[in-house]
Amino acid sequence: MAYSINEACVSCWACLPLCPSNAITASSNSGTHFKIDPKKCTECNGDFADPQCSSICPIEGAILDASGEALNPPGSLTGISPGRLEEAMVEIQTRAR
Ligand code: SF4
Ligand code: SF4
Repeated sequence: MAYSINEACVSCWACLPLCPSNAITASSNSGTHFKIDPKKCTECNGDFADPQCSSICPIEGAILDASGEALNPPGSLTGISPGRLEEAMVEIQTRAR
């Protein structure tokens, strides 16, 4: 079982040094995100109680579990529910007009 990083990653480098399995690599192409080697990722089993990458990742939805579920789902880090965020974005866009 392994986790994965998707295109929401902002390449902040926070997770890379924390991985006990050296499973995370930075893409050399600009504009692309970091990656997890599924052959190396252990989900931190045996090393830490919590996955180190998703524990530090500041971006909701950037790291997925083996079934594709976000480890930090929308609202989990900001405390703003997806519905409230959508309402706020509409308000902001309305003000900008
Ligand atoms: S879950 Fe653990 S082993 Fe897997 S990529 Fe994240 S930090 Fe590395
Ligand atoms: S901590 Fe999250 S946003 Fe930062 S490089 Fe890792 S996956 Fe990307």
